[in-house]
Amino acid sequence: MRRKFLKILTTSLTAIFIAPFNLAYAVTKKIINKNLTEEQKDILFNEGTEKPFTSALLQENRKGFYHCANCGNKLFSSEAKFDSGTGWPSFSEALPGAFKTKVDFSFGMMRTEYHCAKCGAHHGHVFNDGPTTTKKRFCNNGLCLIFKPET
Ligand SMILES: [Zn+2]
Repeated sequence: MRRKFLKILTTSLTAIFIAPFNLAYAVTKKIINKNLTEEQKDILFNEGTEKPFTSALLQENRKGFYHCANCGNKLFSSEAKFDSGTGWPSFSEALPGAFKTKVDFSFGMMRTEYHCAKCGAHHGHVFNDGPTTTKKRFCNNGLCLIFKPET
């Protein structure tokens, strides 16, 4: 009982603490790539999620960079990619300044959602259970990314 109360208290305090950051978080979402599919738009602008194990990028092992499918912003290096087994492309770190984050309380969970810092499009959620020294796991919808191999 006491433990449950403490958990609720901690969650509430965290929400209060984080609220000002969410208020400060204001990015205008803007469609830049006119060739986006309906599925891509649903994820990028309505915070949808693609079906796990459907992204061709799960098998992508070449060296290069992952860019925002909407605006082309460079987001991840292939060096940070790893197989998390979740069915979504996963990365241990993002390139500096690539994203802005916001706490998301949907589905009864407290998760950190991230958006492209340049165009505001939703990309995925970041968790603190990554296997590398960063401890981060950026769980990214493959449809939001465009991979450009190193030439
Ligand atoms: Zn973008």
